[in-house]
Amino acid sequence: MKKQKNNGYPKVAIDGPAGAGKSTVTREVSRRLDLKYLDTGAMYRAITLKFIYEDIDISDLKSIEAVLNRTVIKLSDKQGVFLDGKEVTNDIRIAEVNKLVSPVSAISIVRRWLVDMQREIAEESRGIVMEGRDIASRVMPDADFKFYLDASLAERARRRRQEQLEKGNVLAEDEVLAEIKNRDVIDSGRADSPLIRVPDAIVIDTTDMSFDEVVDKIVNIVQSKAS
Ligand code: C5P
Repeated sequence: MKKQKNNGYPKVAIDGPAGAGKSTVTREVSRRLDLKYLDTGAMYRAITLKFIYEDIDISDLKSIEAVLNRTVIKLSDKQGVFLDGKEVTNDIRIAEVNKLVSPVSAISIVRRWLVDMQREIAEESRGIVMEGRDIASRVMPDADFKFYLDASLAERARRRRQEQLEKGNVLAEDEVLAEIKNRDVIDSGRADSPLIRVPDAIVIDTTDMSFDEVVDKIVNIVQSKAS
């Protein structure tokens, strides 16, 4: 692939609300384009898990700052998530984290801490596909490609339930709907880096698209403009 601006390798930003299919799509896009993949939501989940383990009051900024100063979050190339050296790849998906992660993500010192880490990873990588909520707007405003994945609320809730069902967890429809809706409100309404569609993003409504169609569309756009 032709080298891009920045450090010479393509930076691809993929944003969108919970359940729009970002993680599975981004993982496959990065595999097909042979670029590093970074799931920034996993980082917000990992620090949320630490706050749960340590029973931190999330309105107490002093305690939060102290925790951040002694926390190490690492993501492996195989999508393993490590908190202070311990693997937490599955633990970051528990219901308690789902509930608390959006309020934690609204805290500015947490965002600054993770955004710095994410930018560093992007700079050190030979090209990256990064997914989250503020990638195009804040983490990589200089990205070569910016995508915004969306889907109807009902479809996002259906996918989330299906994903959990495949892991053996049966979730009530109204519960999943309420959780996603609540995260949408907090993620889009927070003061610091809310989820927004930047004007130069390519919006893909995945409601009636298959997984392969979404991946093909993104890969084709990147390859056609980068070659
Ligand atoms: O992508 P995922 O649903 O795992 O993200 C979990 C939560 O982390 C989101 O609901 C959002 O509150 C937060 N997040 C964020 N900014 C990002 C990525 C995730 O605020 N770049």
